[in-house]
Amino acid sequence: MATEAEVGRAASGLLSNRLDAKIPPGSIEKKWERHRFDMKLVSPANRRSYTVLVVGSGLAGSAAAASLGELGYNVTCFSYHDSPRRAHSIAAQGGINAAKNYRNDGDSVFRLFYDTVKGGDFRAREANVYRLAELSLNIIDQCVAQGIPFAREYGGLLDNRSFGGAQVSRTFYARGQTGQQLLLGAYQALERQVGLGTVTMHTRAEMLDLVVADGCARGIVTRNLVTGAIESHVGDAVVLATGGYANVFNLSTMAKASNATAIWRAHKRGAFFGNPCFTQIHPTCIPVSGEHQSKLTLMSESLRNDGRVWVPKKAGDSRPPDQIPPEDRDYYLERKYPSYGNLAPRDISSRAAKEVCDEKRGVGPGGRGVYLDFADSINRLGEPAIREKYGNLFDMYERITGENGYRAPMRIYPAAHYTMGGLWVDYNLMSTVPGLFVAGEANFSDHGANRLGASALMQGLADGYFILPYTIADYLARAKSDRVDAGHRTFREVQAEVAERVRRLLGVNGKRTVDSFHRELGHIMWEYCGMARNDAGLRRALGKIPGLRAEFWESVRVLERNEEVNQSLEKAARVADFLELGELMCIDALHRTESCGGHFREESQTPDGEALRDDDHFAYVAAWEYTGTLARPNLHKEPLDFEYVHLTQRSYK
Ligand SMILES: Cc1cc2nc3c(=O)[nH]c(=O)nc-3n(C[C@H](O)[C@H](O)[C@H](O)COP(=O)(O)OP(=O)(O)OC[C@H]3O[C@@H](n4cnc5c(N)ncnc54)[C@H](O)[C@@H]3O)c2cc1C
Repeated sequence: MATEAEVGRAASGLLSNRLDAKIPPGSIEKKWERHRFDMKLVSPANRRSYTVLVVGSGLAGSAAAASLGELGYNVTCFSYHDSPRRAHSIAAQGGINAAKNYRNDGDSVFRLFYDTVKGGDFRAREANVYRLAELSLNIIDQCVAQGIPFAREYGGLLDNRSFGGAQVSRTFYARGQTGQQLLLGAYQALERQVGLGTVTMHTRAEMLDLVVADGCARGIVTRNLVTGAIESHVGDAVVLATGGYANVFNLSTMAKASNATAIWRAHKRGAFFGNPCFTQIHPTCIPVSGEHQSKLTLMSESLRNDGRVWVPKKAGDSRPPDQIPPEDRDYYLERKYPSYGNLAPRDISSRAAKEVCDEKRGVGPGGRGVYLDFADSINRLGEPAIREKYGNLFDMYERITGENGYRAPMRIYPAAHYTMGGLWVDYNLMSTVPGLFVAGEANFSDHGANRLGASALMQGLADGYFILPYTIADYLARAKSDRVDAGHRTFREVQAEVAERVRRLLGVNGKRTVDSFHRELGHIMWEYCGMARNDAGLRRALGKIPGLRAEFWESVRVLERNEEVNQSLEKAARVADFLELGELMCIDALHRTESCGGHFREESQTPDGEALRDDDHFAYVAAWEYTGTLARPNLHKEPLDFEYVHLTQRSYK
């Protein structure tokens, strides 16, 4: 465990000259346009001589690989899935934001920028967020051109709905399957390039390490998940688009296989980790049902457009919901946040749910649930209208719980869902390792301390379709270092280290299952680094995690051999990395003694229980450098300046 002095030293931080965010000069509206002009280009004839490795083929990775392939680069794309269509992005239900203002309700690029900076509780970089809002317009055009079947209004225009943290309707959607439809579009664009020979796809290939030679990212080492072969791949630049790490909590809404290995290995090779403790706990998930559950299910936030959230007013009121009259119900979001009501942002809604459950007013088994009730909307609009908008979500709820959401209110509770933290990147999406770019949920992203709903798809596609194609070209055009091949000493060393680690995992031959370690880590993280955090709890977690990690390496049982499909081995390698990342998350959460967004430090709250920021001391991105000792990372600070959205205490009242 980190000692007091170590945590103190880490917290004091370095204003690092290694952390140059490379924000272009000029007014915020012109930065990206000007930067695109200033960046170098690679001529079409030269592009095929450059190899770009893209790890991940979710929305961010597929979009990047397809766009770079279309430009003529030689792209190699990797995924541990058997098809890009299986990426976790497919699970996204609710929608994707864009400032098109089709509703004529006052939206604009500036408003989307403003809402995102404020929604992230002023812990994101203004220049990046503005660019994201700007590019949101292009994304919708691109997706429509690809044939994404977005919902349309009677008149033919694309329809919009509202999401939390916004007072305009700017969310484009394809029923409750937006991620799936967007991924099919990106997948088709990717496969087209595979057909044309510009992209080579390696499925069932898991990146297990990054190769940094002569100070630059030069390649990766993968394990073939079917044959066990450990292989090196050489490139002129590497893109990690490997998704988020909320599965560190074990139970989360993320796909079971989502993991941190790619970014964690890159971190240990020199890429700084930005704001690792910033995780999003989503308010509308199906409550946990038992100890051996392996997965939680999200009910899309879009349901809060028409569903009303409530609990009984009286503690311990166990009457069925239809027998609790309106005067005995507490529509607590509408009461506490009248101007946003049920569309209060996720961090705020999650904490409010925890608060009423802590007051013993929760519903369902164990009292860890609140109602999401559609009765009023069904009375007003009719059941067919609700079915038309959310039918597949109601079906999913019924399949999992056996309850009919049209007849009785759904029961929901917050769950780990998304990670705002990730590898630190500059304005060009390049990490602190030259030539290593990071996109989508894997980077520390534009969402600050809290992501607004429907903004992750927007960010992943902006990164992949519209930012990396420019910034990678600029890097390649300026790169001076000599080329390397897989026979280079560093490749041989890294490949040998990866093989040794696999051998070590298989050799422990202990008695405890990988899942039992993951479950125990998840309990620690949820209890001490979850919805609410405090000094004593975080120190307890920091006391427990290294011991659990040591036990893992002494007594984990990994079955079978390397030279075949071995899911036990795959899981073990991922959980081993979660056991290290979890510690960094707690160190980060401990040093940030303010509350902001999803990071709620109990010691720092307003008199009415809202998150209380400390801008004088914490208006920065915390970028952690691996030093070789997990308990003693170095903290580098990227100060955040707010020129356009003035720092204010966030209020949704
Ligand atoms: C249930 C749910 C619903 C959501 N709904 C919405 C929504 O409505 N709107 C919204 O904006 N956001 C939503 N989100 C968030 C959003 O879906 C994700 O943030 C986004 O899809 C992430 O995309 P990505 O491309 O960054 O990563 P992913 O889609 O997770 O893709 C990661 C890719 O990397 C590959 N990979 C990972 N590690 C390795 C490795 N070591 N080696 C090789 N390959 C690797 C995987 O195979 C995969 O191809 C939702 C999230 C969840 C959990």
